[in-house]
Amino acid sequence: MSSPAVKSEPAPRRVVVLGSTGSIGTSCLDVLDHLPDRLRTLGLSAHSSWETLFEQAHRLRPRWVAVTDPDAARTLDRSRLDGACRLLTGPDSVATLVTDPDVDIVVSAIVGSAGLLGTWAALEKGKTVAFANKETLVMAGPLVMDLAARRGGRLLPVDSEHSAIFQALGDTPPEQVERVVLTGSGGPFRGRKANDLAGVTVAEALRHPTWNMGPKITVDSATLMNKALEIIEARWLFDLPPERIEVIIHPESVIHSFVEFKDGSVLAQLSPPDMRLPIQYALTWPERLPGPARRLPWRELSAWHFEQPDHETFPALQLGYEVARRGGTCGAVVNAANEAAVGRFLAGDLRFLDIVPACRAALENHNFSANPTLAELADLDRWARQEVACWTSLRPRTVTRSPRRP
Ligand code: NDP
Ligand code: MG
Repeated sequence: MSSPAVKSEPAPRRVVVLGSTGSIGTSCLDVLDHLPDRLRTLGLSAHSSWETLFEQAHRLRPRWVAVTDPDAARTLDRSRLDGACRLLTGPDSVATLVTDPDVDIVVSAIVGSAGLLGTWAALEKGKTVAFANKETLVMAGPLVMDLAARRGGRLLPVDSEHSAIFQALGDTPPEQVERVVLTGSGGPFRGRKANDLAGVTVAEALRHPTWNMGPKITVDSATLMNKALEIIEARWLFDLPPERIEVIIHPESVIHSFVEFKDGSVLAQLSPPDMRLPIQYALTWPERLPGPARRLPWRELSAWHFEQPDHETFPALQLGYEVARRGGTCGAVVNAANEAAVGRFLAGDLRFLDIVPACRAALENHNFSANPTLAELADLDRWARQEVACWTSLRPRTVTRSPRRP
């Protein structure tokens, strides 16, 4: 008689969380806390919030922590860090963290273009990256996808819409997909017209109806630039032409996206608006395990709603389609211009309604190149930020052209 087969648990995956002190980062740590037998924390990074980072290190006992802001690195109190944990400092420290040979998976949860460095370093080593930082694909989608393919690295989406599409697609070959439909809540200004948005305050723009996120993506959700960035993200991640990517407004944020197949069948992924679910799915993929994410309250459900996006009031969407169609240097320019414009809006220095026009002006005034290198993209990123720094809501701006590389 044979003895019953003992099902052995797989070895825990060793995880680095870049941007562990942010909104995605702290949701990710909730998942790590919940699944200690399956997921081990190997490294954490923050920019300047070193006190929060050191508290996280006490709780999760990683091998490494990194503080990327040089000013914070100079003033932090080293004695408050667990003695067994190694401290790295400076912007390049994330590259050291992710290339530790023991790392299985890197969570890319730094906000903005600063997220590219860690993802790039991880993919160069053929690691798996669970990426929330959509800006990386917006800036350099073709280069990043090519790097992942060449080095055998894998990109798993954390963004809820892209996770939904990834889940609905399964192993379906691309030629059997008719379209994907990204859902969006519509943000805090859904239903308003441009006239109503002239005097929008920072506090109003930060009041998102369904998601609790960091300030940059919350403002992006108010302008609908977030959806524009997601169109570009989907274009590169799933290798879909922009005309097969649609957007529909769904205020409840329960259906996270749809995939329509060639036979007319549509699959969607549903769950309450809680980022811990897509984060966990990327970390445990392809397994589905009980985790901390909220569940649908089936007995309380009533109606879900849909409406077409208002392109006139929210011109960011058309900008997103244009960038997805043209590719090349467009993504890096619009991404940098948007980061700079959102930063100025948050500082009280630019009107809400000037954010998207500032991005369009940078797009139109840059010298387009179809197959840029990473160095060219970095130059254009700097140029676009300078352009937006000159924008003022009070007087017309002077137009400059982006320099051409020799
Ligand atoms: P937060 O602003 O909440 O957190 C940002 C994190 O990045 C913090 O840990 C911050 O450290 C760190 N950071 C900031 N600037 C730098 C820098 N220059 N170099 C290195 N680290 C830096 O952002 P979110 O968590 O909201 O968003 C993170 C990413 O995830 C974004 O790309 C966003 O688009 C994407 N995303 C977020 C969602 C969400 O629900 N929040 C949903 C889908 C995608 P410190 O705390 O020290 O400043
Ligand atoms: Mg999203």
